[in-house]
Amino acid sequence: MVTALTTSPEEAADRLRRGGLVAFPTETVYGLGADAFQPDAVRRIFDAKGRPADNPLIVHLHRRGQIQRVAADVPPSAQRLFDVFAPGPLTLILPKHDGLPSVVTAGLETVGVRLPRLPLAQSFLEACATPVPAPSANQSGRPSPTSWEAVEHDLGGRVDCILQGGRTDTGVESTVVDCTTDPVAVLRPGAVAVEAIRRVLGAVQEAPPDEEAAPRSPGTRHRHYAPTAQVRLVDTPSNASPGARHAYVGLEAPSRPNAFGAVYVEEDIEAYAHDLFHVLRACDEKEIEIIYAQSVSSEGLGRALNDRLRRAAAR
Ligand code: AMP
Ligand code: MG
Repeated sequence: MVTALTTSPEEAADRLRRGGLVAFPTETVYGLGADAFQPDAVRRIFDAKGRPADNPLIVHLHRRGQIQRVAADVPPSAQRLFDVFAPGPLTLILPKHDGLPSVVTAGLETVGVRLPRLPLAQSFLEACATPVPAPSANQSGRPSPTSWEAVEHDLGGRVDCILQGGRTDTGVESTVVDCTTDPVAVLRPGAVAVEAIRRVLGAVQEAPPDEEAAPRSPGTRHRHYAPTAQVRLVDTPSNASPGARHAYVGLEAPSRPNAFGAVYVEEDIEAYAHDLFHVLRACDEKEIEIIYAQSVSSEGLGRALNDRLRRAAAR
């Protein structure tokens, strides 16, 4: 299959409506979408990525009025969160509409819904005029794609079209919040801080940060974000051992940067999150063998960043 590259949201949407798989940018990472109401097309998303069949997809919408097509109910907690954070990097888990094909939710009775904020994503979704289930547009297990080049690297020849935008803004995925429980529960930390959600709703449950403890979001069980290089977490740069095939990424600079094959010093947590997946992929291109990554304090966006670092380092 030849993968078409385009900067036209209308052309990309046209391919999706004809049953195609289309990768598109959002403010978090690039997604790989299909028409929610063409189950064969949705099935091809799992094949193209090598995604485990038990991992449900987040449905992307262009406006709130479309929620009724995919969800049976929108609890008051969800209304309030969308009032504050939509459009934006927040995914809400709601009871599933019977009419939504079950392949989208991997057989679950709930559905994840998100309204992206990036204007190019909005133009694309508007032109699609159908709900678009889309996981991250990477080969399953690899770092999420934050550029169209990363999508082409992983999925070129396996998808119909890539809508070309720039590098993504936040660089980590959406925060996933289950609104079918009271209080709501954060299933995956992400670009919207848990503290901000708590300010809106008061009580919020948080899943403990280990894999087995988060069975409600099936995707958090699987291996994730791993480059070919080995990732090792360090508290301080002095714990990173130098070497020509060793890389370092973190907020503080190592004392002998020239002794590493590559060094990335990030200005703040936002810049670190923005760059992380890009850096992991760049290290593979440089044939780095070990990436030392400095962990950060788990506040605000730091919670999502640490989560991704920990998973990238898990073997
Ligand atoms: P990604 O594969 O990067 O798009 O991540 C999607 C995340 O949202 C995964 O962790 C999924 O397991 C989670 N998710 C999507 N839909 C649901 C749902 N209905 N219930 C729980 N988690 C969900
Ligand atoms: Mg993913």
